[in-house]
Amino acid sequence: MQGLMMDYPLTMERILEHANRLYPRKRITTVLPDGNVHRYTWADVHSRSKRLASALGGLGIEPGDRVGTFAWNNYQHLELYFAVPCSGAVCHTLNIRLSPDQLAYIIGHAEDKAIFVESTLLPRFEAVAARLSRCPRIVLFNGEPGIRTALSDTCCYEDLIAGGSDTFEWPVIGEDAAMGLCYTSGTTGEPRGALYSHRSMFLHTLGVNQSNAVGIVESDVVMPVVPQFHAMAWGLPYACAAAGAELVLPGPHLNPGALARTIAKEGVSIPAGVPTIWTGLYEELKVNPRDISCIRALIVGGAAMPRSLIEAYETELDVPVVHAWGMTELSPLGTVSRLQRHHRALPDADKWDVKARQGVPICGVDMRIVDDSGNEAPWDGRSMGEIQVRGPWVIESYYRQDPAPDHFTADGWFRTGDVGAMSPDGFLTITDRTRDLIKSGGEWISSVALENTLMGHPAVTEAAVIAVSDAKWTERPLAIAVRSPGAVPVTVEALRAHLASVYPKYWVPDKIVFVAQIPKTSVGKLDKKVIRRQYAEGQFD
Ligand code: ADP
Repeated sequence: MQGLMMDYPLTMERILEHANRLYPRKRITTVLPDGNVHRYTWADVHSRSKRLASALGGLGIEPGDRVGTFAWNNYQHLELYFAVPCSGAVCHTLNIRLSPDQLAYIIGHAEDKAIFVESTLLPRFEAVAARLSRCPRIVLFNGEPGIRTALSDTCCYEDLIAGGSDTFEWPVIGEDAAMGLCYTSGTTGEPRGALYSHRSMFLHTLGVNQSNAVGIVESDVVMPVVPQFHAMAWGLPYACAAAGAELVLPGPHLNPGALARTIAKEGVSIPAGVPTIWTGLYEELKVNPRDISCIRALIVGGAAMPRSLIEAYETELDVPVVHAWGMTELSPLGTVSRLQRHHRALPDADKWDVKARQGVPICGVDMRIVDDSGNEAPWDGRSMGEIQVRGPWVIESYYRQDPAPDHFTADGWFRTGDVGAMSPDGFLTITDRTRDLIKSGGEWISSVALENTLMGHPAVTEAAVIAVSDAKWTERPLAIAVRSPGAVPVTVEALRAHLASVYPKYWVPDKIVFVAQIPKTSVGKLDKKVIRRQYAEGQFD
């Protein structure tokens, strides 16, 4: 028997209409490239998105066409997040930090019809355009009037908006139509495209706003430090519109001092970013203390948040940390770590252990752990295996790529490539990515665990561990570490002893090398591809 409820398409325009109808005066604040602040409201986002959407046809953009964005976090980028999908086209956020060759590959693969480029990034984009066989239509924004470029076929964003109509009627779009396209940042290989639908992003928005997840409410002021070009800024702009929350978009000002200032000045209650950002902010606040008591949840994801940093935030700065795990392929939110009722009685030290785990799958994400022989592993906190997921906002196949068995199982699960264990109470702990695990003498060693413990040492700010070939043991861990500025210099032997106090002897790297900095990917994660290359080039000899 069929249910008798409405067939109500889950499309992005419903979210924008909701924000406009119910929260028209709530603010969107952007820190502009020159440091000044631009403020407007959800009502402005609504009317300008309508104007923009109505003008896209004039650029020759039709439903289903891919429209690229090449920009920092700002209000124009937010308008593109709504106007493009609500007009029926696909918002393709380009990661400005990728190399020109990678970007040229991605733009060619996506066949972007137009690209909206922030003017301050024009030189970077011109290097990309020089590699394109056919340059799409370019729309420039956030720049000086009369900006010069060698690119042909450019126009100005504000002219486009001025020529549009704010009484434009949104076209009727099926909920299964594509709305957004994000390529993975290529941490483990060539970039691959995840093509979100209106329905998947709508449901992800509701998922983000579950109270066990991020749980944004009307009174929140949310600052995605995570770039809008990375996994749809973790879906936070849509979640804010749905909740009626205010947004703060930091533009290009991502250095710790600027972030601390913006958080304090704008009263940010939920900042969200990768661990490196929060390491920087913590160091900054130690030197230049500020009142950041406005933060009610510091969201961290994209890489493992070291337990020591969680503890430092919670005990020294009194800032509650919420650690989450996700992937571009999951729109991206998968799990969130929040203390549960049965953790209340734990001593504080154990609470940081819980928070350092990646957390509990949010409702809508099914998860299983599959061992080397293809069997589902028990949730006993010890049995490790590959994490596989399925759900309405999980990828079914990559854009323009045949579903390969190394990404998707025959029974319909997505293979994340992450390795981990589930505790009996449903908390995921990621031990590694499949290709970062170290197999030494037939036993697995977790590079993430070693990195976390190294970073837990007061004289180390950052550390990375890779596998290096070894004639006897097949592989051995090699660690590189950055010394904390100002701390008493630590020796390799002291660090080895520190690790040996926690792990079996065979886990302890034979070699630990101090470096000035650790290579990072375009989104601030440890770049193990580059570290491996540096090792092969003899840089750690
Ligand atoms: P890329 O694959 O290019 O790095 P993503 O940003 O989609 O792009 O990265 C997803 C991956 O990041 C996950 O598969 C996982 O390995 C890692 N990751 C994300 N969040 C966490 C976390 N909280 N702890 C550990 N690893 C994480």
